[in-house]
Amino acid sequence: MSSFTRGLFEVGYGVHAFVQPDGTWGWSNAGLIQGDGESLLVDTLFDLRLTRQMLEEMAPLVDSAPITAVANTHANGDHCFGNQLLSDQGVRFYASQGTTHELAEMSTAAAMGEMMRTLPDDDMGKFMTHAFGPFHFDDIVVPPITDPFEGDLALEVGGRRIDLLNVGPAHTSGDVVAWLPDERVLFAGDILFIGGTPIMWGGPISNWIRACDRIIELAPSVVVPGHGPLTDVAGVREFSQYLSFIEDGVRRRHEAGMSPREASLDLDDEIDDTSYATWSDRERLTVTVHSAWSELELGYEPPGLGEMFTLMATDYAARMHS
Ligand SMILES: [Zn+2]
Repeated sequence: MSSFTRGLFEVGYGVHAFVQPDGTWGWSNAGLIQGDGESLLVDTLFDLRLTRQMLEEMAPLVDSAPITAVANTHANGDHCFGNQLLSDQGVRFYASQGTTHELAEMSTAAAMGEMMRTLPDDDMGKFMTHAFGPFHFDDIVVPPITDPFEGDLALEVGGRRIDLLNVGPAHTSGDVVAWLPDERVLFAGDILFIGGTPIMWGGPISNWIRACDRIIELAPSVVVPGHGPLTDVAGVREFSQYLSFIEDGVRRRHEAGMSPREASLDLDDEIDDTSYATWSDRERLTVTVHSAWSELELGYEPPGLGEMFTLMATDYAARMHS
């Protein structure tokens, strides 16, 4: 399962993963589960053009089983900005309460498009172009989630059981994984990054590790990560070990009296000597460290989104120049 090419891959009977290399910023994976006469889509992509293309490639598969439901794993745009392409077909949108709230509070794609048109010519501008330059944020209006849910939700789509397991807060405040017991396939959303550094906007990190444990307990035969190539339980285990490494590394540096920023730079140095050094998007570490800090220090407020992106731009520039 090590090849990493773009397109639709059958990962179980009537179950397809849609995979987008290179899995870095914005290049997310999605999934299609075909039932008898109807299908469910797991996530849409970062913009309308990419989502439209994906739906065209799925068209032969959904000819006799049209998409009637979309399950969004979380509220990040690379997993839901294409939702509107399905909204006029009476499709139901399923997401956790946490994701539903986050979507309602999130800055719009239009604001993102405007920001991308007026980028400064500095480290921040270069980083934003690197991360979000390939995408088109115009004309995106995310329709409301029609079916928000608390806890887990067992869905039946075309006679197939699909369990939406609420494992957040972890990567965001409302992470859900989609589990197909009949084929033992799991769509992990951004609970799993393969080959890339994860970013923790939500946390606590211990809950993210618990989410990995829950996936491992299900013993899936195929795991579709939110970003990166298809994997299995071994991939989940390695990823979980990274999270434990970060959790432990942050705790030790907090005890040593470092600031969160010092801790993230110091931990990044330690990563140089590990196998995680080859993972892409290492600038995300600083966000994870700042988010994790609030678990260690009562009353600590992590920096806002703008400041987090400034820190990442600084670290990205430092890596480019080194
Ligand atoms: Zn993502």
